[in-house]
Amino acid sequence: MANTTSEKPGSSKRNEVVNLRHGGKKDLTCPRCHYRRDKEKPRHSVPELVDSEKLRGAVGELRDAILAKGKFEEEAFMLGVLEAKVRGREYYLAACSSGRIDISPYLGQISYHKGSWKLPATEAAVPRIDDGRWTGDGWRTIKWEKVDIPLQEGGQAIPHIDQTCAAMKLLLGLGCLLRGDAWGAVEYVRMSEMYYVGPRNTTASRQWHGEGETCSWTAHSCRPCNIRIPYLLCDIASNWM
Ligand SMILES: [Zn+2]
Ligand SMILES: [Zn+2]
Repeated sequence: MANTTSEKPGSSKRNEVVNLRHGGKKDLTCPRCHYRRDKEKPRHSVPELVDSEKLRGAVGELRDAILAKGKFEEEAFMLGVLEAKVRGREYYLAACSSGRIDISPYLGQISYHKGSWKLPATEAAVPRIDDGRWTGDGWRTIKWEKVDIPLQEGGQAIPHIDQTCAAMKLLLGLGCLLRGDAWGAVEYVRMSEMYYVGPRNTTASRQWHGEGETCSWTAHSCRPCNIRIPYLLCDIASNWM
Protein backbone atom coordinates (compact mmCIF):
# COMPACT_ATOMS: atom_id res chain seq x y z
CA MET A 1 0.00 0.00 0.00
CA ALA A 2 1.39 3.39 -0.90
CA ASN A 3 0.31 6.98 -0.68
CA THR A 4 0.28 9.22 -3.67
CA THR A 5 2.53 12.22 -3.45
CA SER A 6 0.67 14.34 -5.98
CA GLU A 7 -2.17 15.25 -3.63
CA LYS A 8 -2.77 18.84 -2.67
CA PRO A 9 -3.43 19.80 0.91
CA GLY A 10 -7.11 19.68 1.67
CA SER A 11 -7.90 16.35 0.03
CA SER A 12 -8.77 13.77 2.63
CA LYS A 13 -6.16 11.29 3.75
CA ARG A 14 -8.56 8.43 3.19
CA ASN A 15 -8.75 9.32 -0.44
CA GLU A 16 -5.00 9.04 -0.85
CA VAL A 17 -4.70 5.31 -0.25
CA VAL A 18 -3.83 3.85 -3.61
CA ASN A 19 -4.94 0.34 -4.37
CA LEU A 20 -4.19 0.11 -8.07
CA ARG A 21 -2.22 1.91 -10.73
CA HIS A 22 -3.79 1.74 -14.16
CA GLY A 23 -1.20 1.69 -16.92
CA GLY A 24 1.78 1.11 -14.65
CA LYS A 25 3.76 3.16 -12.18
CA LYS A 26 5.10 6.64 -12.75
CA ASP A 27 8.74 5.54 -12.95
CA LEU A 28 8.10 3.79 -16.29
CA THR A 29 9.28 5.24 -19.58
CA CYS A 30 6.48 6.81 -21.58
CA PRO A 31 5.92 4.95 -24.86
CA ARG A 32 4.97 8.17 -26.69
CA CYS A 33 7.66 10.68 -25.71
CA HIS A 34 10.24 8.21 -24.28
CA TYR A 35 10.84 10.27 -21.14
CA ARG A 36 10.32 8.81 -17.70
CA ARG A 37 6.80 9.72 -16.62
CA ASP A 38 7.99 11.10 -13.27
CA LYS A 39 10.72 13.28 -14.77
CA GLU A 40 10.66 16.93 -13.74
CA LYS A 41 11.27 18.22 -17.22
CA PRO A 42 9.47 17.71 -19.46
CA ARG A 43 6.75 17.04 -16.96
CA HIS A 44 3.79 14.72 -17.51
CA SER A 45 0.69 16.31 -16.00
CA VAL A 46 -0.50 12.85 -14.93
CA PRO A 47 2.57 10.65 -14.31
CA GLU A 48 0.40 7.75 -13.15
CA LEU A 49 -3.29 6.92 -13.03
CA VAL A 50 -4.33 5.72 -9.60
CA ASP A 51 -7.58 4.76 -7.95
CA SER A 52 -8.92 5.95 -4.61
CA GLU A 53 -11.06 4.60 -1.84
CA LYS A 54 -13.89 6.97 -2.65
CA LEU A 55 -13.92 5.96 -6.29
CA ARG A 56 -13.92 2.30 -5.30
CA GLY A 57 -17.01 3.06 -3.26
CA ALA A 58 -18.57 4.98 -6.13
CA VAL A 59 -18.11 2.21 -8.67
CA GLY A 60 -19.51 -0.28 -6.17
CA GLU A 61 -22.64 1.81 -5.69
CA LEU A 62 -23.04 2.10 -9.43
CA ARG A 63 -22.79 -1.66 -9.83
CA ASP A 64 -25.30 -2.28 -7.04
CA ALA A 65 -27.77 0.17 -8.59
CA ILE A 66 -27.47 -1.49 -12.00
CA LEU A 67 -27.80 -5.02 -10.65
CA ALA A 68 -30.80 -4.06 -8.51
CA LYS A 69 -32.71 -2.92 -11.59
CA GLY A 70 -31.81 -5.22 -14.40
CA LYS A 71 -31.22 -8.83 -15.23
CA PHE A 72 -27.59 -9.25 -16.13
CA GLU A 73 -27.05 -12.91 -15.28
CA GLU A 74 -25.63 -13.67 -18.70
CA GLU A 75 -23.69 -10.45 -19.09
CA ALA A 76 -20.11 -9.49 -18.39
CA PHE A 77 -19.04 -5.89 -18.28
CA MET A 78 -16.55 -3.47 -16.84
CA LEU A 79 -17.71 -0.37 -15.03
CA GLY A 80 -15.42 2.57 -14.49
CA VAL A 81 -15.51 5.93 -12.74
CA LEU A 82 -13.07 8.80 -13.10
CA GLU A 83 -12.56 12.03 -11.23
CA ALA A 84 -10.27 14.84 -12.25
CA LYS A 85 -9.48 18.34 -11.08
CA VAL A 86 -7.90 20.62 -13.63
CA ARG A 87 -7.46 24.36 -13.14
CA GLY A 88 -9.70 24.20 -10.13
CA ARG A 89 -12.57 22.59 -12.00
CA GLU A 90 -13.81 19.12 -11.10
CA TYR A 91 -14.96 16.43 -13.52
CA TYR A 92 -16.85 13.21 -12.72
CA LEU A 93 -17.33 10.59 -15.43
CA ALA A 94 -18.73 7.06 -15.40
CA ALA A 95 -18.73 4.50 -18.20
CA CYS A 96 -19.62 0.89 -18.96
CA SER A 97 -17.68 -1.27 -21.40
CA SER A 98 -20.85 -2.83 -22.81
CA GLY A 99 -22.72 -0.97 -25.53
CA ARG A 100 -25.88 -2.88 -24.51
CA ILE A 101 -26.15 -1.33 -21.07
CA ASP A 102 -27.21 2.28 -20.56
CA ILE A 103 -25.90 3.32 -17.15
CA SER A 104 -27.29 6.86 -17.25
CA PRO A 105 -30.38 6.05 -15.13
CA TYR A 106 -28.09 4.85 -12.30
CA LEU A 107 -25.59 7.69 -12.06
CA GLY A 108 -27.75 9.48 -9.48
CA GLN A 109 -27.23 6.55 -7.10
CA ILE A 110 -23.56 7.40 -6.58
CA SER A 111 -23.39 9.21 -3.25
CA TYR A 112 -19.86 10.59 -3.69
CA HIS A 113 -20.40 13.97 -5.40
CA LYS A 114 -24.02 12.99 -5.93
CA GLY A 115 -25.56 14.46 -9.04
CA SER A 116 -22.22 15.39 -10.64
CA TRP A 117 -21.64 12.19 -12.62
CA LYS A 118 -21.84 12.25 -16.41
CA LEU A 119 -21.29 9.90 -19.31
CA PRO A 120 -18.40 10.57 -21.71
CA ALA A 121 -19.51 12.52 -24.80
CA THR A 122 -20.47 10.35 -27.75
CA GLU A 123 -17.77 11.99 -29.87
CA ALA A 124 -15.19 10.47 -27.53
CA ALA A 125 -15.91 7.04 -29.05
CA VAL A 126 -13.22 4.37 -28.72
CA PRO A 127 -11.46 3.84 -32.08
CA ARG A 128 -11.79 0.33 -33.52
CA ILE A 129 -9.63 -1.49 -36.03
CA ASP A 130 -10.86 -1.68 -39.60
CA ASP A 131 -8.70 -3.03 -42.40
CA GLY A 132 -5.53 -2.68 -40.34
CA ARG A 133 -6.15 0.94 -39.34
CA TRP A 134 -7.76 2.82 -36.51
CA THR A 135 -11.25 4.02 -37.39
CA GLY A 136 -12.45 7.60 -37.33
CA ASP A 137 -10.01 10.17 -36.14
CA GLY A 138 -7.90 7.67 -34.24
CA TRP A 139 -6.79 8.14 -30.65
CA ARG A 140 -6.57 11.30 -28.57
CA THR A 141 -4.70 12.00 -25.37
CA ILE A 142 -6.41 13.41 -22.29
CA LYS A 143 -5.30 16.77 -23.70
CA TRP A 144 -7.19 15.89 -26.90
CA GLU A 145 -4.07 15.71 -29.02
CA LYS A 146 -3.75 13.01 -31.64
CA VAL A 147 -1.72 10.02 -30.57
CA ASP A 148 -0.94 6.83 -32.42
CA ILE A 149 -1.28 3.54 -30.56
CA PRO A 150 0.53 0.61 -32.18
CA LEU A 151 -1.50 -2.30 -33.49
CA GLN A 152 1.43 -4.66 -33.20
CA GLU A 153 4.12 -5.60 -30.76
CA GLY A 154 7.17 -7.52 -31.93
CA GLY A 155 5.55 -8.04 -35.33
CA GLN A 156 2.46 -9.61 -33.81
CA ALA A 157 -0.99 -8.05 -33.64
CA ILE A 158 -1.80 -7.11 -30.05
CA PRO A 159 -4.91 -9.11 -29.08
CA HIS A 160 -8.01 -7.01 -28.31
CA ILE A 161 -6.10 -3.72 -28.60
CA ASP A 162 -9.36 -2.06 -29.75
CA GLN A 163 -11.48 -3.38 -26.88
CA THR A 164 -14.08 -0.77 -25.85
CA CYS A 165 -13.10 -0.77 -22.21
CA ALA A 166 -14.61 1.59 -19.66
CA ALA A 167 -11.15 3.03 -18.99
CA MET A 168 -10.77 4.09 -22.62
CA LYS A 169 -14.20 5.71 -22.66
CA LEU A 170 -13.33 7.64 -19.50
CA LEU A 171 -9.93 8.92 -20.62
CA LEU A 172 -11.18 9.89 -24.08
CA GLY A 173 -14.19 11.49 -22.41
CA LEU A 174 -11.91 13.54 -20.17
CA GLY A 175 -9.84 14.63 -23.17
CA CYS A 176 -13.00 15.72 -24.90
CA LEU A 177 -13.94 17.88 -21.90
CA LEU A 178 -10.47 19.42 -21.59
CA ARG A 179 -9.82 20.04 -25.27
CA GLY A 180 -9.08 23.51 -26.45
CA ASP A 181 -8.46 24.59 -22.90
CA ALA A 182 -4.82 25.43 -22.29
CA TRP A 183 -3.90 23.29 -19.34
CA GLY A 184 -2.97 24.84 -16.08
CA ALA A 185 -2.49 22.86 -12.94
CA VAL A 186 -3.74 19.28 -13.03
CA GLU A 187 -4.41 18.51 -9.41
CA TYR A 188 -5.39 14.89 -9.96
CA VAL A 189 -6.90 12.33 -12.30
CA ARG A 190 -8.06 9.12 -10.65
CA MET A 191 -9.99 6.09 -11.85
CA SER A 192 -11.51 2.92 -10.44
CA GLU A 193 -12.89 -0.01 -12.34
CA MET A 194 -14.99 -3.00 -11.47
CA TYR A 195 -15.49 -6.12 -13.52
CA TYR A 196 -18.84 -7.85 -13.31
CA VAL A 197 -19.45 -11.36 -14.59
CA GLY A 198 -22.97 -12.66 -14.27
CA PRO A 199 -23.41 -16.16 -12.82
CA ARG A 200 -24.76 -17.50 -16.11
CA ASN A 201 -22.19 -15.86 -18.34
CA THR A 202 -20.11 -18.42 -20.19
CA THR A 203 -17.99 -16.28 -22.47
CA ALA A 204 -16.11 -13.79 -20.30
CA SER A 205 -12.66 -14.14 -18.97
CA ARG A 206 -12.48 -14.00 -15.21
CA GLN A 207 -8.87 -12.91 -15.10
CA TRP A 208 -9.52 -9.22 -14.28
CA HIS A 209 -10.65 -9.75 -10.79
CA GLY A 210 -8.99 -9.23 -7.51
CA GLU A 211 -5.48 -7.95 -8.05
CA GLY A 212 -6.01 -4.97 -5.80
CA GLU A 213 -4.05 -4.85 -2.60
CA THR A 214 -6.65 -3.40 -0.26
CA CYS A 215 -9.80 -4.88 -1.71
CA SER A 216 -10.34 -7.80 -3.97
CA TRP A 217 -13.31 -6.58 -5.91
CA THR A 218 -11.97 -3.66 -7.91
CA ALA A 219 -10.39 -4.64 -11.16
CA HIS A 220 -6.97 -3.90 -12.49
CA SER A 221 -6.76 -2.85 -16.11
CA CYS A 222 -6.72 -5.46 -18.85
CA ARG A 223 -3.59 -5.88 -20.95
CA PRO A 224 -4.83 -3.77 -23.90
CA CYS A 225 -5.65 -0.95 -21.45
CA ASN A 226 -2.28 -1.18 -19.77
CA ILE A 227 -0.73 -0.70 -23.20
CA ARG A 228 -3.06 2.14 -24.20
CA ILE A 229 -3.32 4.14 -20.97
CA PRO A 230 0.28 5.51 -21.03
CA TYR A 231 -0.26 6.87 -24.55
CA LEU A 232 -3.46 8.62 -23.50
CA LEU A 233 -1.83 10.11 -20.40
CA CYS A 234 1.13 11.62 -22.26
CA ASP A 235 0.84 15.38 -22.67
CA ILE A 236 4.43 16.23 -23.53
CA ALA A 237 4.57 18.81 -26.32
CA SER A 238 5.89 17.54 -29.62
CA ASN A 239 8.87 19.94 -29.59
CA TRP A 240 10.23 17.97 -26.61
CA MET A 241 10.16 14.67 -28.52
ZN1 LIG B 1 -9.37 -2.73 -20.60
ZN1 LIG C 1 5.04 10.96 -22.56
